[in-house]
Amino acid sequence: MKTVDAYATPAAKAPFEKTQIERRDLNPEDVLIKIAFAGICHSDIHTGRGEWGETNYPLVPGHEIAGTVEEVGSGVQKYKVGDRVGVGCMVSSCGECENCKNDEEQFCLKGMVGTYGGMLDGKPTAGGYSTHIVVDENYVLGIPEGIELDQAAPLLCAGITLYSPLHHWGAGPGKKVAIVGMGGLGHMSVQIAHAMGAEVTVLSQTLSKEEDGKKFGADHYYATSDDSTFDDLAGSFDLIVNTVSASLPMTKYLSLLKTRGALVSVGAPEEPLEVPAFGLIGGAKIWAGSQIGGIKETQEMLDFCAEHDVAAQVETISADQIDEAWDRVVDSDVRYRFVIDTATI
Ligand code: NAP
Ligand code: ZN
Repeated sequence: MKTVDAYATPAAKAPFEKTQIERRDLNPEDVLIKIAFAGICHSDIHTGRGEWGETNYPLVPGHEIAGTVEEVGSGVQKYKVGDRVGVGCMVSSCGECENCKNDEEQFCLKGMVGTYGGMLDGKPTAGGYSTHIVVDENYVLGIPEGIELDQAAPLLCAGITLYSPLHHWGAGPGKKVAIVGMGGLGHMSVQIAHAMGAEVTVLSQTLSKEEDGKKFGADHYYATSDDSTFDDLAGSFDLIVNTVSASLPMTKYLSLLKTRGALVSVGAPEEPLEVPAFGLIGGAKIWAGSQIGGIKETQEMLDFCAEHDVAAQVETISADQIDEAWDRVVDSDVRYRFVIDTATI
């Protein structure tokens, strides 16, 4: 057992406290990772503040982890000491069900084990807001040369969460794709959809981030606070990805789809999303969801990002700034992902 420093929230809406946690002794297939950076995902906030229901406290969040291998178990095949690696939202799954066998461990029929807030071998899991983590090598990703670790960390959740639906729904040349919300997920989405060759439109609350959006590869940028946006863009898109952390009036957004177009929800607000049947029936619209991606697809996404020069734009913070950073994320005041420099823990 290794005792390591971490930051934990002791209760819903309570400030973070420095603490110490135990990391297990290495099993043969385990990798000990010295964490360099941990991204702050809005899901950390939904979970930590109890917006998605009950969780175990104290909670050490963090599922966007990038660092280097410090030690390997006797049976580890894929990684060696010094390798640059990442860990995303899951650290285990059954490995035997239909979904695990199809490389979709995120939909493990027995339930994947979350990097934090889950239970593994009878113990609660603790995430990346800490200095070290021990993870089975099958849930560890290789970070390609060419992506700095701080810019790579957010790819482990934000990157794969957008890569997977964009890939699945065929974003590419000739396709008009809209991204709703340009926060952590949204800014990855714009870059990835652009790199896939799609014509990309950002739908943000205001035009305040238009210059950045265009730099990330957006062809068009509209403010959703301006009602004329919905008239101007009616029936325009093959695909819309909704990354917003709050509930939106879905009928308005479905009206922006072409006939048989698809709107994919990845944002996971506390409040329900409501869709009157006629919002879907007219024009045979598709409303779908997507949740992160499997391990194989996450590696594919990392390699794709390295090849296309895609990475997160980050603001690095020290561990004592986590509370402030969480408030800024909730206020849509993030440019575009906070990452914790775990050396400051
Ligand atoms: P984020 O950085 O806070 O970005 C969310 C963006 O949504 C904001 O930057 C803002 O963009 C827009 N927004 C926020 N409140 C809004 C409101 N009331 N009305 C309209 N737009 C609003 O959050 P994130 O880390 O990208 O995560 C986004 C959501 O995805 C969260 O709910 C998170 O839990 C979820 N998530 C899902 C998965 C999955 O696997 N499906 C994975 C990770 C995260 P603008 O300023 O541009 O309007
Ligand atoms: Zn996340």
